[in-house]
Amino acid sequence: MSDLVQYSRKGAIGVVTVNNPPVNALGHGVRQGLIDAVAQGEADAGVTALVLIGGGRTFIAGADIREFGKPMRAPGLQEVLERLEASPKPVVAAIHGTALGGGLEVALTCHWRVAVASAQVGLPEVKLGILPGAGGTQRLPRLVGPKLALDMITTGNPIGAKKALEAGVVDEIISGDLLEGALAFAAKVVAEKRPLRLISRMDEKVRGVDPAVFADYRKSMERRARGYFAPWRCVETVEAACALPFKEGLARERELFTQCMESEQRKAMIHVFFAEREVAKIPDVPASIEGKTIGRAAVIGAGTMGGGIAMNLANAGIPVQILEVSQEALSRGLGVIEKNYATSVARGSLAQAAMDKAMGLISGTQRFEDIGQSDIVIEAVFEEMGVKKEVFGKLDQIMKPGAILASNTSTLDIDEIASATKRPEAVIGLHFFSPANVMRLLELVRGAKTSKETIASGMRLAKTMRKIGVLAGNCDGFIGNRMLHGYLREANFLLEEGALPQQVDKVITDFGFPMGPFAMGDLAGLDVGWRIRKGKAASRPKDERYSPLGDRICEMGRFGQKTGAGFYHYEAGSRTPTPDPVIEKLILATSAELGIARRQIADEEILTRCLYPLVNIGAAILEEGIAIRASDIDIVYLNGYGFPPYRGGPMFWAEQIGLAKVVATMRGYEAQHGPSWTPAPRLVRLAEAGKGWADAG
Ligand code: NAD
Repeated sequence: MSDLVQYSRKGAIGVVTVNNPPVNALGHGVRQGLIDAVAQGEADAGVTALVLIGGGRTFIAGADIREFGKPMRAPGLQEVLERLEASPKPVVAAIHGTALGGGLEVALTCHWRVAVASAQVGLPEVKLGILPGAGGTQRLPRLVGPKLALDMITTGNPIGAKKALEAGVVDEIISGDLLEGALAFAAKVVAEKRPLRLISRMDEKVRGVDPAVFADYRKSMERRARGYFAPWRCVETVEAACALPFKEGLARERELFTQCMESEQRKAMIHVFFAEREVAKIPDVPASIEGKTIGRAAVIGAGTMGGGIAMNLANAGIPVQILEVSQEALSRGLGVIEKNYATSVARGSLAQAAMDKAMGLISGTQRFEDIGQSDIVIEAVFEEMGVKKEVFGKLDQIMKPGAILASNTSTLDIDEIASATKRPEAVIGLHFFSPANVMRLLELVRGAKTSKETIASGMRLAKTMRKIGVLAGNCDGFIGNRMLHGYLREANFLLEEGALPQQVDKVITDFGFPMGPFAMGDLAGLDVGWRIRKGKAASRPKDERYSPLGDRICEMGRFGQKTGAGFYHYEAGSRTPTPDPVIEKLILATSAELGIARRQIADEEILTRCLYPLVNIGAAILEEGIAIRASDIDIVYLNGYGFPPYRGGPMFWAEQIGLAKVVATMRGYEAQHGPSWTPAPRLVRLAEAGKGWADAG
């Protein structure tokens, strides 16, 4: 027998234990071991029933993702499941931790399921671009009905044991020792001579289901599943469960599973899965440097970002003091925080008690001396070097030794900020994204002297706040905004050359972004970029192409949604962008003034002109060591800038197209538009060698 699955006896019950740490994934050895253990239990004359349980911290938490995309070595999961379900002796699954994906599919072929109260069950396959391919889509609806099955299979979100009990996924919750409870349950089943419960033979809940259920469900998914492949196939599987006999339903599930497996989206989403795990690894900051636990924190500035950052900290259970220059600014900032929480409570997404707890952790002050004992201080004042340096000079005076001094700057030089202190090793950039309490991305910016310990503490804090931390080097715009610069530059040039904002935005949203560049600018506020551009105007090379459009729109007092107008017009109280003839006139006049003959621009050109700069700047960022790996750049774009997850991020996407093809297109643009399109050396080298980002460049 495989050493990953053990068989033992407890009285008259055979116990099958899966021991494949860390999560008992259903790799080949486990599959073979399960078949062998069940056979042994059946052959064991003194045994009347079997209990299937996970060793270590969980039941079976899913497939072995490393086997994805390769032909599965026999026995396949289907075979294991048929074997389990066909066991003439009752099989009881005993669940703790999580029963996810293939793990829940295994449990669904057992005749009964018991679980501890903290257990969770779910079918998260859709999050990897696939669907449950071992009968889960056919058995779950038979057990719980189509509605909950649709929710679980199309979102991939797990449910807790209590809900699982109510829905019938679990038959009993065990409050004491799980194995003892499961043995007692199995003994009871035997004593009562209960007929085996084969979910595949139950069809009460899937018979006579109104087809409108599926039509309505598809409608309800339109927003959240736009552009995705797998969730729509998931609906088809549940529909099949309701329309077809079990065996035919299984065959349909297999077909749809194969379609998902072969899709580009599946590759992209598996890439993201691994990228999210890689991003935490920093080559010169080994895991042995754990970093500090943050017990209390301070935030400087209660504006848009400071307020959101304070909410993040409080949500993670960390007491936080907010420091402001005036009582008025402080009250305003605290008021906004309270209002944000209250909105969540009113919407039902936050419990009143959770709001009270978070608000109880947030306090305000105007005195620097009050915050000196914090383990970390995060500065979020105006984006001006003078102001930042003054603040850091003060922090250096009053913060206790060992405290981390962080800045939320989006563009300024961390080393210069650190130079205002006598402890540059404790200074780091923590670049949050707006709204800071919602966005998952946190760019950590490493200054020349930032210590490894400070980096480790920052990464740890990101995790505590449930954010995804990405380490970046110190340069203008770090990873994300530096790339964004190229994207916005081309979007504006396209307007001068013949496109209109709505055309550019449509191409980008059709690609899968939630918003195009112009709607995004209007949302973020056009004045922010305007101010930055003005600051850099003097140092801009005179021969560099520069679009005056953004500045002209701001000069008209149009700062975006907040002024009711920007690249688009907004009706009072509305966030819906409406194309504006005033802007069209401005764009046409600008083209004429610049002597550019407007032309019809194909969608394909819009897409590559906007997105290839991300790839090219990404390649430069890699070469300079600003990002550790290409997949980190993908993580930044997926979590901070709305790049569609099912395309894997800009770097992965370019690799799928083929780096050589990307370079060839860039060469064409270089001939037309000049050196801003010269492909980055690393991109050229990899393309010429037929290599990918992960290869040594
Ligand atoms: P904001 O204008 O909304 O808030 C700044 C706050 O800082 C104001 O309330 C102001 O009273 C306070 N302040 C100014 N000087 C101070 C001082 N010396 N001591 C204490 N408080 C002081 O600005 P914001 O949008 O929250 O941006 C703050 C920082 O975050 C900037 O560095 C910005 O670049 C960065 N950032 C902003 C965004 C964004 O989308 N808004 C995103 C990422 C990073």
